[in-house]
Amino acid sequence: MSGIVVVFDFDKTIVDCDSDNWVIDELGFTDLFNDLLPTMPWNSLMDKMMMELHSQGITIEDIVKVLHRIPIHPRIIPALKTVHALGCDMRIVSDANLFFIETILNHLGIMEYFSEINTNSGYVNEEGRLRIMPYHDFNKASHGCNNLCPPNMCKGMIIDRIQDSISTEDAKRFIYLGDGAGDYCPSLRLKDRDFMMPRKNFPVWDLISKDPLLLKAEIHGWSDGEELEQVLLHLINTNLMDKNSQFNSSDCKLQILSVSASEALPKVLSVRP
Ligand SMILES: [Mg+2]
Ligand SMILES: [Zn+2]
Repeated sequence: MSGIVVVFDFDKTIVDCDSDNWVIDELGFTDLFNDLLPTMPWNSLMDKMMMELHSQGITIEDIVKVLHRIPIHPRIIPALKTVHALGCDMRIVSDANLFFIETILNHLGIMEYFSEINTNSGYVNEEGRLRIMPYHDFNKASHGCNNLCPPNMCKGMIIDRIQDSISTEDAKRFIYLGDGAGDYCPSLRLKDRDFMMPRKNFPVWDLISKDPLLLKAEIHGWSDGEELEQVLLHLINTNLMDKNSQFNSSDCKLQILSVSASEALPKVLSVRP
């Protein structure tokens, strides 16, 4: 293991849209979704919409077919493959649901890269209807976080748990990637040795930009899959070399910047002692 934990949001980070919206829109239920959204939390509405789809004859196979053609930037899968090959511990923290995420990751052949998927539960019940249930059962008790987290999930609490589960001797460094308002809370939990990668001009970017000093972690923005790959591999390679070589970090940065992201891996590995 590299000593680096990379935590990915899913929607608009790994895939290039919101998987909930993608399914609703592609199956033609956008108007109903928009009508009901002011009346209940998003996650509860998704469960209700799945009931609606089921009652109108949409099958699980129909939903799976739609998920299989979800848009993804062409550099994302190569980037994830490289991160995995470099020995990083890869995890997902997402407010989508397990059924959508597993269906997509299995289809893309990258499911086994991830050691953990933290998300809302999603399963097919005995009637063949998809049920989507909150990660945090807010009907029992609130999670109590006020950092713009939806009632069903505080991603900051999940990051706390992951940090606590890793022994302090390992001194793992976290890299967190996300786009949404729900990714702001975890960005506040990162330590000064960690890195936050907000998607530029998306809600988490706007929130961080209001007062970047609230974050202890170093901030590195990205705008699309290509830049995500470049920035993420640069951070990982720099930190692998910080740990393993006698060079100072500015030397390393210069060396890594001199090669393009797609060629970086073998060259960077070759200068490790
Ligand atoms: Mg997202
Ligand atoms: Zn929170």
